[in-house]
Amino acid sequence: MPGPAVSAFHPDPSLPAKVDVIVIGGGIIGTSTALELAERGLSVLICEKGQIGAEQSSRNWGWVRLSMRDPREIPLMLEAVRIWEGLDVRLGRKTGYRKTGILFTTATQKSYDLHARWIRQLDPHQIECRMVEGKDLDQLMRGHQMKVKGALHTPMDGRAEPQWVAPAIAEGARDRGAKVITGCAVRSLDIQAGRVTGVVTERGRVACDAVVLAGGAWSRLFAGNAGIELPQLKTLNTVMRTTAIEGGPEASIWAKGFALRKREDGGYTVASGSENIVDIVPDSFRLGLRFLPAFMEERQSLRFRLSGRWREEAGQARRWAPDERTPFELCRILDPEPSQRILRQSWARARSAFPVLESAEIVQSWAGMIDVTPDAIPVISPVEELPGLLISTGFSGHGFGIGPAAGKLAADLVTGDTPLVDPTPFRLSRFSDGSRIHL
Ligand SMILES: Cc1cc2nc3c(=O)[nH]c(=O)nc-3n(C[C@H](O)[C@H](O)[C@H](O)COP(=O)(O)OP(=O)(O)OC[C@H]3O[C@@H](n4cnc5c(N)ncnc54)[C@H](O)[C@@H]3O)c2cc1C
Repeated sequence: MPGPAVSAFHPDPSLPAKVDVIVIGGGIIGTSTALELAERGLSVLICEKGQIGAEQSSRNWGWVRLSMRDPREIPLMLEAVRIWEGLDVRLGRKTGYRKTGILFTTATQKSYDLHARWIRQLDPHQIECRMVEGKDLDQLMRGHQMKVKGALHTPMDGRAEPQWVAPAIAEGARDRGAKVITGCAVRSLDIQAGRVTGVVTERGRVACDAVVLAGGAWSRLFAGNAGIELPQLKTLNTVMRTTAIEGGPEASIWAKGFALRKREDGGYTVASGSENIVDIVPDSFRLGLRFLPAFMEERQSLRFRLSGRWREEAGQARRWAPDERTPFELCRILDPEPSQRILRQSWARARSAFPVLESAEIVQSWAGMIDVTPDAIPVISPVEELPGLLISTGFSGHGFGIGPAAGKLAADLVTGDTPLVDPTPFRLSRFSDGSRIHL
């Protein structure tokens, strides 16, 4: 299997004829939604085109953080922390979740002030979060050799093991009666009299009352075939993992040029904290204006390039009939090449910052495609024009930590229960007044 090895998962053998809710996508968002729905007694099917958790949900850094979040996400992230705290017991399985704190280091007065200002976002919530400097900081980053002005420290931030989590949640959903099918792409929605009544998969039709689209980087393509405009692009992030070492930092650390997180196997997951690659593809032009403000804001960390992805995506079907093979069947697991340059640079910077890493070796590297929206917060929203469809996607590089609560919110919106938090910031209609494309 490409990418990091995800925990083994044995799917159900066959598709049911009818369920209450079909969840498209077996990443952390789809599995968390299914868990919540199954716990409320609904019959649920997860349809995953590849393997559970094999795309973003296993490739990420494993940071579970409140710090440096968009303020609109903070109430949902606070709920996520509450869910993470009880998740292992609830599932009867390990997720690797621990509260070890996260440090965002700053080297200049300007970024120090920006970080310090961010703390005010937490004022209403009485959560410990402060700037640390000098000896206090040295204690938190034992053995570091960086010249830093200080760091934002949030002790309640934590980490979990991405390769364990989505399979563990999927098993938990199954314990509560959900069916989980892998290697089975959903091709399209079955729409009758203007509402969703089922899906057509590559193995046949399944009827349902509601569909949750949690397709990660594929959601735009899937929605587009149903005539729904979902603005979403992808950026590529490169990651590596090391052998186990003694004496490295417990807290996860972001610094200019690298980011690292201790793993349950004693090694570290290391990545560049300040560089993402953006492949120029046809959607870059279709969506360029909408993403321009985000591109401008993030311009220092984005590297635009023309690569083979242009041809790949230009040749990809954007509309298909239910009996045709779809792009989802042609790419079971999105497994982009990591950037060797970024690997070399971030590893060199991490080692010079933490000489203890000199004794570690890199044992694996991979990359992941991060799905992003124009305002870098997700869509967790019913589609007003198409009753029976809810979209939960576009987590913009921070969906792992918030995933369990996003699943709960999506379940609330499907069942009509009181939403966990105000869902207004996540509505799809914020991008347009009418999200339906005229076919
Ligand atoms: C390198 C990297 C580092 C990151 N670091 C962090 C971090 O430290 N902390 C954090 O909070 N977040 C992080 N993220 C973001 C986080 O991983 C994602 O936001 C989150 O995993 C998104 O989950 P998802 O379920 O929406 O998507 P995915 O995990 O990508 O799952 C979507 C699934 O849908 C399936 N699918 C798509 N279309 C279909 C279809 N038609 N039929 C059937 N199946 C379909 C896909 O095969 C896929 O398995 C990172 C992401 C990357 C790539």
